Amino acid sequence: MSKGWIAERVSVVDLDRIERNIAEQRDDLGWGPNNIFKFPKYGGTGAIYEGIAKPLLEKIHLQHEMMEINLEQKTVAFSNGRLERYDVLINTSPLDLLVAKCRNIPESIADAAGNLIHNGGLIAGLGFEGKRDDSKCWMYFPENNSPFYRVTNFHNYSRFNVPDGDAERYFSLMCETTYSSHKPEDKTRIVESTIQGLVNSGMIDEGQKAYIASRYLIDIPYSYPVPTLGRDKSLATIQPYLESRSVYSRGRFGAWKYEVGNMDHSFMQGVEVVERLLKGTDESTLLGAAG
Ligand SMILES: Cc1cc2nc3c(=O)[nH]c(=O)nc-3n(C[C@H](O)[C@H](O)[C@H](O)COP(=O)(O)OP(=O)(O)OC[C@H]3O[C@@H](n4cnc5c(N)ncnc54)[C@H](O)[C@@H]3O)c2cc1C
Repeated sequence: MSKGWIAERVSVVDLDRIERNIAEQRDDLGWGPNNIFKFPKYGGTGAIYEGIAKPLLEKIHLQHEMMEINLEQKTVAFSNGRLERYDVLINTSPLDLLVAKCRNIPESIADAAGNLIHNGGLIAGLGFEGKRDDSKCWMYFPENNSPFYRVTNFHNYSRFNVPDGDAERYFSLMCETTYSSHKPEDKTRIVESTIQGLVNSGMIDEGQKAYIASRYLIDIPYSYPVPTLGRDKSLATIQPYLESRSVYSRGRFGAWKYEVGNMDHSFMQGVEVVERLLKGTDESTLLGAAG
């Protein structure tokens, strides 16, 4: 991996502040970019986007899988047989797949897209009976005694993330494991190894295994766009080619920039590309100038 991505994503350590905290024996919790955030009371993260989409529903067509793009004729073909013409195309599907779907793409562009690296994610949601006293939101696990790298106390985001909104009786852990050719994972066993990992890391005790009320697993083949050393060179080859043909690829995997690929960034990439097309303004999020 390159190091250019860290500025936005890894909090820079303030050594003086750490020394002061140690001297004053103070637990310093209020630092880092995400120390305060908002979350919907009902409906999870999806509720944000369902709310935004409400006034636009007539213009949104779900269940249309884009199959082929003809860059010369400016058309998109969908798996249900629909063919759409465009003046400008804004894409949010993964950039490597987009390139693969463009008819007559030059070899240099296809090769550059082939160099884009990503991993997949196995997200296990475990619901437990019982009350969990732990005020933390999410935690990272670099040790090798668990498959997951992160666990989220989802009941802490909203008590309505558990049945009947009753966080006295239930708690919910979202456990995220990535996989790739460098780190294969057995998908058929991941829920079990996640549960064992929770015990090994001290997140739950052995006895709590008997209080698991629900298990959920989702496989997300495109989970993280990896900021490899060759990424910027590939993007500098692909994006100008597409833009010169009125195709603008944005979002987490559309732009393939991990450092500006979270939800808030991806949303603003969409806002800013439209503003650029209409008003000629800069795309500051994509270029990394904004927070
Ligand atoms: C488990 C998990 C936890 C996360 N937690 C957070 C978090 O706490 N905070 C945060 O900021 N971000 C989080 N993220 C990241 C966040 O989900 C993404 O940053 C965000 O969804 C990116 O938005 P997007 O519109 O660029 O892409 P997406 O939301 O991936 O949208 C791309 C869309 O393109 C569609 N598509 C793909 N191919 C085709 C095709 N051929 N035809 C038609 N449609 C197609 C897909 O179905 C999808 O709907 C998390 C992600 C995961 C998986």
